[in-house]
Amino acid sequence: MERVQLLQAHGVSSGNRSEVAGRSTFAARERPARTCGRFPCRQYAEAIQRVAIITGYMPFFNGASEESTGKKILLLTPRGFCAGVVRAIDVVKIALDVYGAPIYVRKEIVHNRHVVDQLRSAGAIFVEELSEAPEGGRVIFSAHGISPAVRREAAERKLKVIDATCPLVTKVHLEAQRFAKKGYTIILIGHKDHDEVIGTLGEAPGSSILVETEEDVDRLEVQDPARICYLTQTTLSLDETRGIINKLKAKYPQIEGPPAQDICYATENRQMAVKAVAPNCETLLVVGSQNSSNSRRLVEVCRNSGVPAYLVDDYDEVDPGWLRDVNVIAVTAGASAPENLVRDLIELLKRHHGFGTVEEVEIKEEDVRFSLPGELVPHARRLTTISL
Ligand code: SF4
Repeated sequence: MERVQLLQAHGVSSGNRSEVAGRSTFAARERPARTCGRFPCRQYAEAIQRVAIITGYMPFFNGASEESTGKKILLLTPRGFCAGVVRAIDVVKIALDVYGAPIYVRKEIVHNRHVVDQLRSAGAIFVEELSEAPEGGRVIFSAHGISPAVRREAAERKLKVIDATCPLVTKVHLEAQRFAKKGYTIILIGHKDHDEVIGTLGEAPGSSILVETEEDVDRLEVQDPARICYLTQTTLSLDETRGIINKLKAKYPQIEGPPAQDICYATENRQMAVKAVAPNCETLLVVGSQNSSNSRRLVEVCRNSGVPAYLVDDYDEVDPGWLRDVNVIAVTAGASAPENLVRDLIELLKRHHGFGTVEEVEIKEEDVRFSLPGELVPHARRLTTISL
């Protein structure tokens, strides 16, 4: 597999640069990107775009070995599981291993049908509400987080709780608590029915207002414009959210925001990879479930670049009509989509649709890991990686 790496806004050491040069024909045309000491940041996004623009980056014309068809797959990195999803799946697996079935999981542990099906067959019981779990049972909260009301209900029903909420979602909850204590009105930017949004709104139900679009900002009325703040769901489109925030700032100049953006690193990186490759592909396939917010945003980001994009749970959902006359296809995966589904998709694209070459296009290395909930740490020795 040909491997192509775009250098990052956060700098590349000379050692890394030689390593890249050894691996990639693209490196011969590299331009150093601006370096900044903070992540995530706007410079990062700008640098990625600048690298693509300056170099006229077209990895598939750079001497990759061609098979007779000339049809190529650009495989994006980073893609697939984020640290919060790895942690949440590990939590269920370890809990099943240590405590045995039944283990109840409130809501889908992550928004992916294959992951949920596999954990269900391993003994997890997925429930929509805590009332479906027996009193005193063991229940896991999903990666998307829960409201304080759910936590109270669990305590009343004497449930043994393991919390798999992603730490980056917890960060948003803590911000909501902090602003609510100061008597602020919280404008939460997000999607109404998403589990994460329901949980965050629950932190301050009396003083939170949900905003989904720029039009919602036009309709917004707050009691005290001097005491308002905004927070966001972690898995939104960066561009769309920026538009809403700018509109909020124009309407309420005193509005405060979180110290660092709430959209998480995994969402940002996957969107940046799609943006970087969109000019160089004819279609994008995103592996992920329909209820996966970050996966849907990847499709939108690509379509906003004028390139068709489709969300598929797996290869079976690929419509051959999408691939007609397509010579260069890009493939990525949402943060809750298992890698084996990506590999299957690649193999079947090669076997059935004549794509002869796969190039990995890497724009950012990810090394984020989250520690397990304390009660599971002593039991984690056998399970540290996910191989769904
Ligand atoms: S997508 Fe982001 S917020 Fe959601 S689980 Fe992954 S790291 Fe956490």
